[in-house]
Amino acid sequence: MHFVQPEVRLIGRPSLDYEEVAAYLEEVGGKGWLERLDRTNDAQNLAEIGGRTCYRSWEPGLNPNVTRVRTDQDAYLENILASSHGSVLEHLTFNFIFSNVSRVLTHEQVRHRVGTAISQESLRFVRLDDLPFWFPEWAQQDGELMTRAVRLLLDMESFQLWMADHFGLDDENVPFKEKKHKTSFMRRFAPEGVTTTAVWSANVRTLRHVIESRTAEGAEEEIRIVFGKVGELMKEEAPALFGDYEVTEGGAWVPSWRKV
Ligand SMILES: Cc1cc2nc3c(=O)[nH]c(=O)nc-3n(C[C@H](O)[C@H](O)[C@H](O)COP(=O)(O)OP(=O)(O)OC[C@H]3O[C@@H](n4cnc5c(N)ncnc54)[C@H](O)[C@@H]3O)c2cc1C
Repeated sequence: MHFVQPEVRLIGRPSLDYEEVAAYLEEVGGKGWLERLDRTNDAQNLAEIGGRTCYRSWEPGLNPNVTRVRTDQDAYLENILASSHGSVLEHLTFNFIFSNVSRVLTHEQVRHRVGTAISQESLRFVRLDDLPFWFPEWAQQDGELMTRAVRLLLDMESFQLWMADHFGLDDENVPFKEKKHKTSFMRRFAPEGVTTTAVWSANVRTLRHVIESRTAEGAEEEIRIVFGKVGELMKEEAPALFGDYEVTEGGAWVPSWRKV
């Protein structure tokens, strides 16, 4: 076994094709908006495109009902959040790799179904020959707890190795089907805290909800740490869409606008 720390990496983000956006705006008469646009943040720009499409509010007068338009993106997106126009945020999907996170965490994470996609390392295919495990700081400082916990983990790990040997999984010409069958069985003897890797994608509407609910004081210890990191990454990535959160002393991310 070895000790690990949960990690979150942001590996993908929205990307706009401004030439195609320009071609569309040529048709509806909104090119002035694009000329003013700062092209450094595609995610925020995509949110703005989604919102302005709804009211044709690229410029005053394109829709006779619209006589004034906001020209500042921060103010525009703040109004999207404040008015709960959250469907606009569903266009913006971000992709993460969560590594060294426990199966306790991923079991809770997959309960968030709306606006997400997940691919998790499979213990039907990937054989456990080592048990990576995260211990919180407070547990690491408890000598007796650590001695007993590590002994238990080493026991489970050697049972994994024994089973692989017992089933002859590394013998010559063992069909992959047989390896998969036995590996599937063997994972039943792994602890729920064994760590794993998952690619997780979520749109901004979902991210706002999950960051709030999974950093709440009542949420589980590891998931709070991990979604606190997701919050930090997203605040850096799209400040106009995540800048309204207050982080409490206890680490809870509390938004100004809930459930947009
Ligand atoms: C602190 C904490 C403790 C928890 N404890 C437990 C527990 O003890 N046992 C347990 O089983 N679970 C528990 N959960 C999980 C919880 O019940 C939810 O399943 C999980 O948080 C997913 O959130 P969600 O329902 O908002 O779904 P998401 O998929 O994140 O959906 C987002 C939103 O979309 C809407 N939505 C989604 N699906 C539907 C639908 N089918 N119909 C109508 N509207 C929908 C809802 O407004 C929902 O909030 C806990 C969660 C937290 C944060």
